[in-house]
Parts: sequence; structure tokens; C-alpha cells
Amino acid sequence: MTNDCLFCRIVAGEIPATVVHETDETLAFRDIGPKAPVHVLVIPKVHHTDVSELAVADPGLAGKVLAACAAVAAGEGLGEGGFRVIFNSGPHSGQEVFHVHAHVLGGKPLGPMVS
Ligand code: C5P
Repeated sequence: MTNDCLFCRIVAGEIPATVVHETDETLAFRDIGPKAPVHVLVIPKVHHTDVSELAVADPGLAGKVLAACAAVAAGEGLGEGGFRVIFNSGPHSGQEVFHVHAHVLGGKPLGPMVS
């Protein structure tokens, strides 16, 4: 836990979030500014900065985050329409919270990826 990390504070219960899925090592909660009918963030409970850092430091945990994304999609009823998973990483991506998180988006046709 890092005291200045927003998502570490959500894991610690210090900041409220609407949790939709949880395992021993991952937490999934609704994005407060949804960009689609379903917009859930999936994080590892331990702090890693971004997906590049996580993939090197703990590839097994990276896989568990992806498995949690799939579980969230199933739980949100996205099996038929499908869904999108986005990891923003680094300044060009627009990453704002530097605790790695997957955006799970779906619930409508999402259109092409942004340029
Ligand atoms: O990938 P990026 O870092 O830009 O995304 C951060 C996301 O965290 C935003 O979509 C924002 O709406 C979300 N957020 C949240 N709950 C907070 C603060 C930010 O869901 N308390």
C-alpha cells in the first residue's frame, strides 16, 4: 500500500467504490466516470505502477488480472456482445492513476479504437 495512491486506498477501504468482483489478489469496481454502459476497473490489490511494470514484476498476477477481467465481463452479461479491455500505460496513453488497472468496457457497440 502506498498512502498517496488512490487505488491502494480503495483496496484499503479508505475511499468508497462499487465493487463488482473480488479475489484474494484482485479487485474490480465501477468507474466513477463511465465511458460505456459497463465500465469496470480491474486492479491487483498490491501496488504496481502500470502494465509494463506488472508484467515484468509478477506475470502470474498479470494473468490473474486478465482472468478477473473475463470474470467481470461474464458477470456483467457481456458474453454475447463482447467487450474491450484497455490498459493505459504512460503519458501518451492518458494514464491518470498510476496503479495498474484494466478498463473493462461493454454493453453497446463500442466502435473503432481511438487514434
Ligand atoms: O487509465 P486512467 O488512469 O486514465 O483511468 C483512471 C480511471 O479511474 C478513470 O476512468 C476515472 O474515472 C477512474 N476513477 C475511478 N474512481 C476514482 C478515481 C478515478 O473510477 N475514485
